[in-house]
Amino acid sequence: ALFGNLTDRLADTFKNLRGKGKLSPADIDGTVREIRRALLEADVALEVVKDFTGRVRDRALGDEVSKSLNPAQQVVQIVNDELVAILGGEARRIQFAKTGPTVIMLAGLQGAGKTTLAGKLAKWLKSEGHTPMLVAADLQRPNAVTQLQVVGEQAGVAVYAPEPGNGKGDPVRVAKDAIKEANRKQYDVVIVDTAGRLGIDTEMMKQAANIRKAVDPDEVLFVIDAMIGQDAVTTARAFQDGVDFTGVVLSKLDGDTRGGAALSVASVTGRPILFASTGESLDDFEPFYPDRMASRILDLGDILTLIEQAQKNFDEEESLKIAEKFATDTFTLEDFLVQMQQLKNMGSIKNMLGMLPGAKGMREQLENFDESEITRTEAIIQSMTLQERRVPKLLNGSRRVRIARGSGTTVTEVNGLVNRFEQAAKMMKTVARGGTPQIPGMGPI
Ligand code: GDP
Repeated sequence: ALFGNLTDRLADTFKNLRGKGKLSPADIDGTVREIRRALLEADVALEVVKDFTGRVRDRALGDEVSKSLNPAQQVVQIVNDELVAILGGEARRIQFAKTGPTVIMLAGLQGAGKTTLAGKLAKWLKSEGHTPMLVAADLQRPNAVTQLQVVGEQAGVAVYAPEPGNGKGDPVRVAKDAIKEANRKQYDVVIVDTAGRLGIDTEMMKQAANIRKAVDPDEVLFVIDAMIGQDAVTTARAFQDGVDFTGVVLSKLDGDTRGGAALSVASVTGRPILFASTGESLDDFEPFYPDRMASRILDLGDILTLIEQAQKNFDEEESLKIAEKFATDTFTLEDFLVQMQQLKNMGSIKNMLGMLPGAKGMREQLENFDESEITRTEAIIQSMTLQERRVPKLLNGSRRVRIARGSGTTVTEVNGLVNRFEQAAKMMKTVARGGTPQIPGMGPI
C-alpha cells in the first residue's frame, strides 16, 4: 500500500512517545533518529532526509513542544507540517492559458506512465468541463501512437496522430500541427505525449527540449514512477537540466512502493507535484494536495479526498446530500451502507476505506479485501436497528453481541466497523471546522 512501511514505522516511533508528559532532549534525539531511519528506508534522498530531520529536531527542541500539554502530539504536528513542506507546501493547480488552447507537455522516462497519464488527465479535464485533445508526439516507441489512440477512446477525447507518411518521424512538426488543429477545432487543452527512453539520454532530452521550444507549453509535467527509488533525484535533476518542467506527476503510487521519490522530488527540484496516479485504470488519478498526502502518510486519514471520490461516484443529488451530511456531522452508518451498495467498483471501495483514519491496522485486511467483505459489512449494518444506524452511541455490549449473531459475524468485526466509523465522523467534524485531525488514540493537541 501507499507508503505502508513508512506509515507503520512512523506510527511505531510516535507510539513510544505516547503518554509522556515531558520529552527530554534524549527522547527527541531518539525520535528524530527513528524518523531518519524510516525515511531512508523508504528511499527518500539523503539530502532531503537531513534537511527534514534537522528542521524537525530544531522545532521539537524549541518552545512549542516543551510548553505543550501534549508534547507527543505536538511532535506529530511538527512532523506533519514538515512533511507538507517537503511535499511542496500549498497545492498548485494547472495554470491555464488566457488565450488560445492551454498546452500541456508530458516528459519522463519510458515506462514512467506518460501515455496512461495523458488519458487520465484528459478524462479528468473533461469531467471539469474542458475539451482536451491528445497529441501523439511519441514517434519512437513502435505502438505508442496506437496506445494513445486507445487511451483517448477510453477517455472519450480526441487524439491527434500523424497521418502515415505525413510528418512521421518528426515529433516537433506533429506537435505544432496539432496546436493549429486545436485552434481550428476549438479544443481548449492540448496534451502532448512525448517519447521517453529507458534511461537518461541526450538525444531524447534534445528532442523534448525542441518540442518544448516549438510549442511553448503552459505546463511541462515531468512524470515519474514512484517505484524508481533512489534514482528519482538523479532522473528529476537530469530532466530539469535537459528540458525543465513546471510541475511533477507521481505515477504508480499504488504499487508496493516505498514512496521515496514522492518525498524527494518536489523539494529537490523546487517544482510542485500537481497530480498523483494510483493505478492502471483511467480513474486512478487525483489532484495532489501536500497536506492531504502528509495526513495519509501519518495515517491521519484523508477525509477530503474521500469526500471528493464519493462525489465522483454518485450522482449529483446524492453527492450534495453526502457533502451536506459530512459538513453537518450527520453522516450515519445508514448513509455508509447506501454508499457501499452503490459503489460497483472494488477499487473505489478499497481506496475509500484506505482513506479512513487508522486504516493502518486494517491494511492487511484491505489488501485481501473482496466481495465477501462488503457483504459482511452490509450484513452488520443491516442487523442494526434504524436507530442504531443513526446513533452508533446506542451500541452497547449486548446490542453488539446481538448484531454479530444476526449478521453471522463476530463482535470484533462489529467493533472494528463502529470504531472506524466513529473516528471518521470525528475527523470530518474537525476538518469541517478547519482543524487538523489528530492521530487516533493520542488525545487532543
Ligand atoms: P510511458 O512509456 O511513459 O508512456 O508509460 P505507459 O503509460 O505506457 O505506462 C507504462 C506501464 O505502467 C503500463 O503498463 C501502464 O499500464 C502502467 N501504469 C501507468 N500508470 C500506472 C499507475 O499509476 N499504476 C500502475 N500500477 N501502473 C501504471
